[in-house]
Amino acid sequence: MNILILGSGGREHAFALKLSKSNKVTQLFVAPGNAGTHTIAKNININPTDFKAVKDVVLQNDIKMVVVGPEAPLVNGVHDFFLADNELKNIPVIGPKKDGALLEGSKDFSKQFMQKHGVPTAKYRSFTKDNLKDGFSFLETLEPPFVLKADGLAAGKGVLILNSLDEAKVELEEMVSNQKFGEASSTVVIEEFLKGIELSVFVLTDGKSYKILPSAKDYKRIGEGDTGLNTGGMGAISPVPFADKAFLDKVEELVVKPTINGLQKDGIDYRGFIFIGLMNDHGNPSVVEYNVRMGDPETEVVLPRIESDLFDLFEGVANQTLHEKSFSVSDKIATTVMLVSGGYPEAYQKNKEITGFDSVSESIVYHAGTVIKDDKVVTSGGRVMAITSFGDTIQDALTKSYNSIDKINFEKMNYRKDIGFDLI
Ligand code: ATP
Repeated sequence: MNILILGSGGREHAFALKLSKSNKVTQLFVAPGNAGTHTIAKNININPTDFKAVKDVVLQNDIKMVVVGPEAPLVNGVHDFFLADNELKNIPVIGPKKDGALLEGSKDFSKQFMQKHGVPTAKYRSFTKDNLKDGFSFLETLEPPFVLKADGLAAGKGVLILNSLDEAKVELEEMVSNQKFGEASSTVVIEEFLKGIELSVFVLTDGKSYKILPSAKDYKRIGEGDTGLNTGGMGAISPVPFADKAFLDKVEELVVKPTINGLQKDGIDYRGFIFIGLMNDHGNPSVVEYNVRMGDPETEVVLPRIESDLFDLFEGVANQTLHEKSFSVSDKIATTVMLVSGGYPEAYQKNKEITGFDSVSESIVYHAGTVIKDDKVVTSGGRVMAITSFGDTIQDALTKSYNSIDKINFEKMNYRKDIGFDLI
């Protein structure tokens, strides 16, 4: 079967590599892909939110399944587009329709959903410019730090955590009245600050049954010791040592089951991944956010640990036979360290030649922001490559990732040297 993966990051390279191992997959296509996916799939240079272009690719290449990596095509309704088109409606899309994608596309919606279905989460209220004064009053009832979230997608930048009440009021007004994050912040969710340690749990569902995928912890800040600006993610570890069986059982009972049941009760036919951002507060889970796709770089540690055939699981999602599929996960620990362009997440230069990655043997090199130019692999984004390794301990796996990184080079290459250290 021919499969199309939408996206261009390390996550999509990880999907492609995993799917390429299935003997049921004939040819893989990635749109637009990167220099890594190029070696195992055919890259097609279209924008994944250009659904007409996606349709052409699907029809021209006899594609029989579409796997959506990033959130934008889902929130914009790629799955709905397929269902509404006579030529595409029988081609399964792995990823929710617009109604399910609202779990990520609107923080107000996702908070309402959690409250309605009894999923533990921080107390909250939503405000617009019309009830700004009520927003100020609500802030006065909370203890610092104050958490302000733009309702819509804001490229991971729409959440502000502020220590001063005055600053929180100023920022709230900036968001709702002056559109600090554009239309995305015309509604703002203000919520209680949750204490605890953060981790992510991933679920694959066909709308009826589900598989809980390995947990992961990512490292968002650019600087060592979790300092500096937020990034798309500088590394990840799976499994998470503090997410023991007792905790994960609680997550399943208190979060996963009510979420899947809630989707069913609300008539949302959800087929795809749910990424649950959680706080572990003394063994009790509280949901920080839902995302409607896999995380990046978490995918680069979660997928390689899954021993089952990923295509088989996707077929289960498409046909609602996921409960029949076998599912096993390796006991090994996986770590990934992201190589980024100097300057990232602020301005950085592209087109830097990357060398040495071909000689890496003890890690998997997942490409992210890379392209081929004049037969050379060059940087094309802030996050460039994720270097994933396995080990019996976190230390073991990290040593392999860092040894592999020593072989790789590009001008101004940067990476965090302390991924996972807090867990050792
Ligand atoms: P992402 O880039 O993870 O998709 P996002 O913009 O969707 O981010 P959230 O995940 O909701 O926003 O929040 C970003 C980060 O802010 C979280 O990963 C968490 O560290 C922190 N955060 C959010 N809400 C809270 C809260 N209520 N209490 C404590 N920290 C929080």
